[in-house]
Amino acid sequence: MTLAKLLTHGGGYTMSKAAPRFIVIGAGMAGILSAIKLRERGFDDFTVYEKADRLGGTWRENTYPGVACDVPSHLYRYSFAPNAEWSRVFSPGGEILAYLEDVARHHDVLRSIEFGAEISSLEFRDGRWHLSTTDGRRDEADFVIAATGVLHHPKYPDIEGLDTFGGTMFHTARWNHDVSLEAKRVGIIGTGSTAVQVVTAIVDTVGELHLFQRTPQWVLPMENTPIDETDKERYRADPSTMAEVKNALAQSFENNFASAVVDKNSPTLVMLEQTCRANIENHVSDPVLRAKLTPDYRAACKRLIIASDFYEKIQRPNAHLITEGIEAIEPGGVRTRDGELHELDVLVLATGFRVDQFLRPIRVTGRDGIALDDVWAKRPSAYLAISIPEFPNLFMLNGPNGPVGNFSLIDVAELQFNYIMQLVDAAQAESSREICATHEAAERFEVDRTEAAQNTVWVTGCRSWYLDDRGVPAAWPWGFDRFRSEMAAPKLGDYELV
Ligand code: NAP
Repeated sequence: MTLAKLLTHGGGYTMSKAAPRFIVIGAGMAGILSAIKLRERGFDDFTVYEKADRLGGTWRENTYPGVACDVPSHLYRYSFAPNAEWSRVFSPGGEILAYLEDVARHHDVLRSIEFGAEISSLEFRDGRWHLSTTDGRRDEADFVIAATGVLHHPKYPDIEGLDTFGGTMFHTARWNHDVSLEAKRVGIIGTGSTAVQVVTAIVDTVGELHLFQRTPQWVLPMENTPIDETDKERYRADPSTMAEVKNALAQSFENNFASAVVDKNSPTLVMLEQTCRANIENHVSDPVLRAKLTPDYRAACKRLIIASDFYEKIQRPNAHLITEGIEAIEPGGVRTRDGELHELDVLVLATGFRVDQFLRPIRVTGRDGIALDDVWAKRPSAYLAISIPEFPNLFMLNGPNGPVGNFSLIDVAELQFNYIMQLVDAAQAESSREICATHEAAERFEVDRTEAAQNTVWVTGCRSWYLDDRGVPAAWPWGFDRFRSEMAAPKLGDYELV
């Protein structure tokens, strides 16, 4: 079979070489997908390494009150596992975790996962990847798929005295469910999507809520309405109706919001801004509070907050919005720059994630002893978010420079996985042992995406996790159609096959 035929065939493993072995890192959404799809394509020789004792990734780690996905439920699901049972337009985190567990069970994925196995190093030697775990396990494989997630490593704020707090303090991704918040004085640092969900969920339980805001956020009002039984019944009876819902949602996301953010002059952005502005004007009557909550940058420059009741909740008598900068954290609470001590029992750090890590802290060594830490010393990057020169047969799902933020990351991972399988097929077809992006392709991609990033709304004057250390958006700066067409078939001229 010719290479072209093999690629258009989209087919599974057909070459005479012994079937390759795969290692998948992480049993979150993308790792579960990899296991299911590898087996479907006849690649049975693989292990998924998971450092925790349960699958689920983000949805296992984030259990804070109010956690939900801001991509609609019928869009945030595997294409091969539609779910008639979603309870709301935007699914609660626990429901997504249960869905992932169900899908994994249904596809018999659990037997392929090694739980409690944290990979410490990956080394490419003699044409294969050699793996070690922190507890001394070893393995090797021909291919590695890194499904390690983007928003995974909690970012702790660099605030003086952070460790001296005398009450209970935790990051939102490490929620301490042993601590009751009832009638407590609770402080929250941060005003991102996470903080807003926490505020709306807990304000009516706590005694006093103090929200420490460094930067106000635009809030797009969208109700998280329940999906009624009639609709569920229709989805159960005829799953194709769910596909229609999914397609309509995908179209609307891609053609509106996702296209708008990569074109800072788009009329859709102006409309979004007007909606957000009307939201605050209609829902915050006190002009002083309204001024404090109104951003001085464009809507969607930071990731938009989707919430229908944040303004209502932050105006509760027991809620306090604090906009004075934080001076220090002390045993008794948070001291702001005006000298005031805000006394607290519990301090919640809703300060986001380190988005420059990806598969690190694993020590990854490519050809000739090249360390990934050195290659990524300034910032992480990968050709089309998938492959790194000199790191053959190592592919990433939701890696650096991919379309994060404004799409269903499940759709993204499915397209990427299909692309990766075509690379594997190409290597097999050429009887090659190694495949990775060329330096030229990676450099060209880097130049193109950096240039395109200047058209996005993310560079219009705000700080956000979309920006790298230079202030350049690290995310995919084009529309989803371009991503989909890039992922349809690899340009093999951009790859080195050895
Ligand atoms: P985030 O958007 O990065 O927000 C972090 C917040 O912490 C910001 O308000 C930031 O202020 C503040 N902060 C950080 N360091 C600080 C410091 N030293 N002093 C004071 N404030 C500090 O993090 P996130 O809210 O966890 O959300 C991250 C992403 O996760 C979201 O954008 C979204 O993609 C995803 N997410 C989605 C959902 C959902 O689906 N609904 C929910 C949660 C999270 P500045 O703005 O001034 O930097």
